[in-house]
Amino acid sequence: MNLYFAANPDGSWVLVDAGVPGSAHKIREATAELFGPDSRPSAILLTHGHFDHIGAVKELAEEWDVPVYAHPMEMPYLTGQSSYPPPDPTVGGGAMAYMSFAYPKKPINIKNRLELLPSDGSVPVLEGWRWIHTPGHSPGHVSFFREEDRTLIVGDAFVTRDGESALAVMTEKREVHGPPAYFTSDWGSAHHSVEALCDLEPEIAAAGHGKPMRGQELRQQLERLVQDFWLVAVPKTGRYVHEPAVVDEFGVVSVPPPASNPVPKVLVVAGAVALAGLAWAAWGKRGGNHKGNGYNKKSRQQYTQRPYSHNRALHSVPPTIDPDHDDPNEHTNNYP
Ligand SMILES: [Zn+2]
Ligand SMILES: [Zn+2]
Repeated sequence: MNLYFAANPDGSWVLVDAGVPGSAHKIREATAELFGPDSRPSAILLTHGHFDHIGAVKELAEEWDVPVYAHPMEMPYLTGQSSYPPPDPTVGGGAMAYMSFAYPKKPINIKNRLELLPSDGSVPVLEGWRWIHTPGHSPGHVSFFREEDRTLIVGDAFVTRDGESALAVMTEKREVHGPPAYFTSDWGSAHHSVEALCDLEPEIAAAGHGKPMRGQELRQQLERLVQDFWLVAVPKTGRYVHEPAVVDEFGVVSVPPPASNPVPKVLVVAGAVALAGLAWAAWGKRGGNHKGNGYNKKSRQQYTQRPYSHNRALHSVPPTIDPDHDDPNEHTNNYP
């Protein structure tokens, strides 16, 4: 994944995002090369708090003694308050998605370094930039934009490679795509966010994944992505396709049930059919005088009216969620 260095003419600079876990050393090397051996930024800015964007944030913020800025809606996931909505490995599309079960689950806690992005849309340290709330991929996702030369630091609101294909990761072909699907928990918002970024008519787009793109090619592909979003960006099936994760300023309130795995579903159906067959046979042996077609209106009604209990408001559970908690039968906001 990418991170960016953004500098002012006077030499002050910021780091935007902080890499995958274990990348502190690489970031230090790049810093020394760009700004000199003893240089340090005035702040770290986060587009969002997914593990591949905050890997070195704790270590470097301490070492440099600098604040870390993020959007208020991203705070719960950066202060150990809430886990993100669980990633969805059923969205398909390649190795990155299939591997998502192995991604770190615990929210980090950088409370002592964390600051809110200014509510007036200005960006700390960086002159002439503004931040834009681009939720969908994550609740407090932001992008950064410099009007003067229409430079856009996208984050993961959209990416410039086919994010989930291992081949695209290797070949680094530049192409506008929707946000990485396995982590996107609100597709409606994600669509609006891409639309907002398209309306900026960026000249350069530097995304969290893929190489930067520019000019007409970028704008045309972005426009196409807005138009065909539900066709090309939203997965055919998946946990959040029909229903988003519900979040508030304290974190995740509820999530849809995990998308079912087609194989077990077939087995479950086969099992149900077998059971129905046995019941039918038993009924026949008993010589029941039931002449109907077997359709039981009452039980059908019960089924459709069954309370949908998978989601529940977090108000009924303790405010601090044990991030290690992973019992799939307990429907908290943590990972299944
Ligand atoms: Zn992300
Ligand atoms: Zn990412």
